[in-house]
Amino acid sequence: MKKQRMHPPVYLDYHATTPVDPRVLEAMLPYFGPKFGNAASRTHRFGWEAEAAVEQARRQVAGLVGALPEEIIFTSGATESNNLAIKGVVEASRAERRHLVTVATEHHAVLDPVRRMEGQHLAVTILPPRPDGLVELDRLANAIGADTILVSVMFGNNEIGTLQPVGEIGAICRARGILFHSDAAQAAGRARIQVNDQKIDLMSLSAHKIYGPKGIGALYARRAARSRILPQIDGGGHESGLRSGTLNVPAIVGFGAACEIAAQEMETEQERVRQLRDRLQTRLLTELENSTVNGSIGNRLPNNLNVSFAGVDAAALLMKLPGVALSTGSACSSATPAPSHVLRAIGLSAEAARSSVRFGLGRFNTQEEIDFAAGQVIEAVREVRRDAPGARFG
Ligand SMILES: *Cc1c(COP(=O)(O)O)cnc(C)c1O
Repeated sequence: MKKQRMHPPVYLDYHATTPVDPRVLEAMLPYFGPKFGNAASRTHRFGWEAEAAVEQARRQVAGLVGALPEEIIFTSGATESNNLAIKGVVEASRAERRHLVTVATEHHAVLDPVRRMEGQHLAVTILPPRPDGLVELDRLANAIGADTILVSVMFGNNEIGTLQPVGEIGAICRARGILFHSDAAQAAGRARIQVNDQKIDLMSLSAHKIYGPKGIGALYARRAARSRILPQIDGGGHESGLRSGTLNVPAIVGFGAACEIAAQEMETEQERVRQLRDRLQTRLLTELENSTVNGSIGNRLPNNLNVSFAGVDAAALLMKLPGVALSTGSACSSATPAPSHVLRAIGLSAEAARSSVRFGLGRFNTQEEIDFAAGQVIEAVREVRRDAPGARFG
């Protein structure tokens, strides 16, 4: 594979993380240098300058999702935001019996905090999704009972890209006075988010999924929901007491810049990415028999493509593709051999789940890169199938 060594590697793992946009980096740099102040310092201009930058970023983040600036709580990322939302709501509830509803295809950063709280006066319903990954609204509504305090359903899935009917779920929850949390780490900047229209009370965001730096994110907490969560990190009372700790000003500035760019460019960028994704999908499906797309085709993030290549061990396939950065599932679980819990939840066998590859496209991919990657993947799938002639395709 001479061609492979000559071509620079193609990054198709934008669900795992995204490169920092050069404009974001530029916005951050002064805050590593002369503008180094502590945003909580109230007695001099170094502090004021940092605070002003943080407040501008808060407006930029809020602007992307239709929130008020004071509804944005900066955290270290979507993992922390999910933990704060779930543990914070459960701990704040004074109810004798508490119940939470979520879905089997959630990120581990939702499922694991839920499991930790389960039993601590918390009963949990984990809904199975439909085979296309969508939650059934009737089922969700029926799962809500008198003790239910929180419903947590992600906005866009990080493996199969499925976009949940968030607005409908929000309406069901609001009508019954139950808090609705959504993990929007993947959907922000890729799908339309308007927290008021969609009746979202709590929402997790992450900068590094939208061309910002790692280690920064936010929890959106609707004004009326703030008194219904308890902080998980206590200290100096930063972020209105909901998340203590000196603010990471350069990262917050970068997060804000990333949100501003996303808000301005989302429509054109996502249409371009969608066309690249469709081009890749068409080529893979027409040239490789027994390949199937996982998850909903119509309700999907524009940058996501998850394909099962029957008879192919995806881990072995990726070994043959040093020139294309791909993943077999979420970055957090791809170090373990267990097949994806998301693919299993939508009904794939363990074998089919192990034959699946996640393609995540993004801002810096070109058509030339997509064509190169498609060629490499097609060649590698054929090779793996030749090497394992005993494998049945189907
Ligand atoms: C990446 C991701 C997370 C974790 O976000 P971090 O900011 O890395 O903690 C949570 N949920 C989803 C859906 C993600 O894609």
